Order: sequence, then structure tokens, then C-alpha cells
Amino acid sequence: MKNTLGLYLHIPFCRSKCDYCDFYSLAGQEDLMPDYQKALLAHIAECAALAKQDVVNSIYIGGGTPSWYGADRVCELLSAVKKGYKIARGAEITVEANPDSVDLKSLRKLRKAGVNRISMGMQSACNSELECIHRPHTFEQVQEAVAAARKAKIKNLNLDLIYGLPEQTEESWHNTVEQALALNPEHLSCYGLIIEEGTPLARRVAAGEPIPDDDMQATLYLWTVERLAEAGYKQYEVSNFAKEGYESRHNMKYWMGAPYMGMGAASHSDFGGCRYSYIADLEGYIRGVTQGTRLLDHSDLIPERERGSEYLMLRLRTTHGIEEWEYRRTYYMNFDPIGEKLKEYEQHGWAKCTDGRWHFTPEGFLLSNRLIADLQEVQETATLANTLEKVRTSQIPRK
Ligand code: SF4
Repeated sequence: MKNTLGLYLHIPFCRSKCDYCDFYSLAGQEDLMPDYQKALLAHIAECAALAKQDVVNSIYIGGGTPSWYGADRVCELLSAVKKGYKIARGAEITVEANPDSVDLKSLRKLRKAGVNRISMGMQSACNSELECIHRPHTFEQVQEAVAAARKAKIKNLNLDLIYGLPEQTEESWHNTVEQALALNPEHLSCYGLIIEEGTPLARRVAAGEPIPDDDMQATLYLWTVERLAEAGYKQYEVSNFAKEGYESRHNMKYWMGAPYMGMGAASHSDFGGCRYSYIADLEGYIRGVTQGTRLLDHSDLIPERERGSEYLMLRLRTTHGIEEWEYRRTYYMNFDPIGEKLKEYEQHGWAKCTDGRWHFTPEGFLLSNRLIADLQEVQETATLANTLEKVRTSQIPRK
């Protein structure tokens, strides 16, 4: 039986840099697009040999801004993937797009090449908020791009939104969500703003610019979970909501610990029991593929114990959650200390057990980083105690 695999292609080009962004993407490097394309095509062909036993059921072209890279290049990448890999019938093929770099013609090209899901960076319905973080588009362009995507017969559309933006108020966020709902997307990703070190926004905040605080972010988040549920969007992860059957396959692979193979500068992979990433250096990546210079940034074989810790970290980000026997069977680890901690969380209203699976409530998702870290600590302590016990008993001479 074949294994299923996700492919991720990273396109590190943007029209301009948004003030909050710390993804590996560059503005003003369009001259390097043709060389990057050649390198990526060569890399796709080269890696195909590794995936002979796999069937690809999700392809995600992200960035950066793939739509700024151009529909023709994206289509060429897709035809290289189709040539080298076995693609499952009905595979989810997603392309990330910004509203200012798509039109009906480019979206039709993508659709014809097999793209069946567009993930659009909307972020806000308020133009002054968009301007304030240096997004390269207006809300009107979002509306036009969505209309064009529908006309191009894209039936699965995601909109990315950000709450906690500078200048954002409760009222403006509510309006953003309502405007997004009016566009009737199948999927919504609502991320809380994170001030990433080294970004222009971090410098602005350090210089005293006010942004909504944690309490305000919490209020916006809890309102959003409720409003989207009322509108028919099921929350399936901390920040992700979908109409029935439209959960992102690409996202779920990551959270369920399923294998995926990334290609492109700064892309990550979890494939063949190994986790690895390529260098976050555009020219270095091109040289690495075409001239055989260093390409890998890091690679690690992941021991089972670490996988157990990841199981907690990733699955508890989802509403699917974790299950005692799944954990025991897969990682041969004791669930009892974790179960006790989860019962404690339940009393605070942070976790719930539904049909034998533990998952966080929206209030728990708000605290998920801290709660998961505590669970991992409990797990680590229990594992250590177990190891010590094994050492101790193996040292007792038996008569
Ligand atoms: S468009 Fe996306 S990837 Fe590019 S700078 Fe803005 S947030 Fe970052």
C-alpha cells in the first residue's frame, strides 16, 4: 500500500515586506525569479526519486507570495510535480495569493493547471489598518480578487485575517469578520498578531507605538470563535475554521504529524523519519541545487520519545485532540500523569473530554502554549522517573 504525502513549495518573493512579517521572503529580488525557478524545477525532479512509494494528496505552494511570482511559473512547477510524482485523485492543490497580484486571467490559468484551493491574504477590511502594516493592497482589491476566484471556478477559498493589529478596535475587528463572512469563504484563518523580533513592527512597538494588549486579543478571539460557529464555521485548530469538509489537508498533515516534503529556500520537511530544512538564502539555495554547494540548513532523526512530545504539542492545537490509547500504543508511554493534568485543566474550563478524546476549549486555546508546555514537563518527569526505576530494578541482583 502506498503512503500519502504532502508537498510544500516555498516561493520566497513578495512585492513588498509587511511590517509584522518574519517569514523568509524578499522584496525587490525579482531578477532572481528565473534562476530560482530553474533551481526549484531541478529540485522537484531530483526529490521525486525519494517519493516513489508515496502518493501525493496535498500540494501547497506558499511563501512569500506565489501569485506575485506569477501564474505561469506556478503552473510550470505544478506540471513538474505531476510529471515526477504520483498524485492522488482529488488531491488538494493550494496556492497562496495576495489580492493585488491576481486577476481573472491568472486565476483561470491556475485553475486549469489543477489548483483547487486559493488561500488569500486579506488580513483586515479596514484600509487604514492595512496601510499601517504596509500591506500592498486595499480591501476593495480583496473583494475583486475573491469575485475573480469564484468566476475562475475556485470552489475552495481561504481568507487570512489578523486580530490585534495597530489601530484595531473591537468594532473594526467585528467589521473585518463580517466583511469576510460576506465573501462566503469555505475556510478562515484568524491569527493573533505576534510581534516578531527584528521586524519593523517590533521596532515601532519598542519606540512606543500602542497595539491592542493580550486582554483585548483574548476578547477579540473569543468573540470570533463564537461568531464563526454561529455562521457555520467549525473551529478545527486554534486559529483555523472551516465549513464542513473544508479543513485544510495541508494544515492537518502538519498537526497530525503526517509526512510532508518541502522544496525551496527555507522550506521544512518531515519525511522518512527525519526532519530537515533548506537554507534560508535565495542565492545560496540556487547554488546549492545547481552547483552542489551546501543546501541543507539542518536535519535530525527524531527519536520516538520526541515524537510523543510533539504528539501533545501538535494535536492539542486541534479540536481532534489526543486519546489515551492512541498515545500509549504509539509511543509506549504512560498517559496517567497527562490524564491527571488534563482533569485539572477541565476544572478550570480549559480542556474537555469528548468521546474519549481530550481537547482544549476556546479558553484553553488562548493559553495553549503554556498548557502544552506544562503537559510536556509532566511527561518528561514521568519518563525520567520510569527510566530511573528501570535502571534501579535492573541493578538488583536476583536469586
Ligand atoms: S505578503 Fe505575506 S510573506 Fe510577504 S511580506 Fe507580507 S506577510 Fe510576509
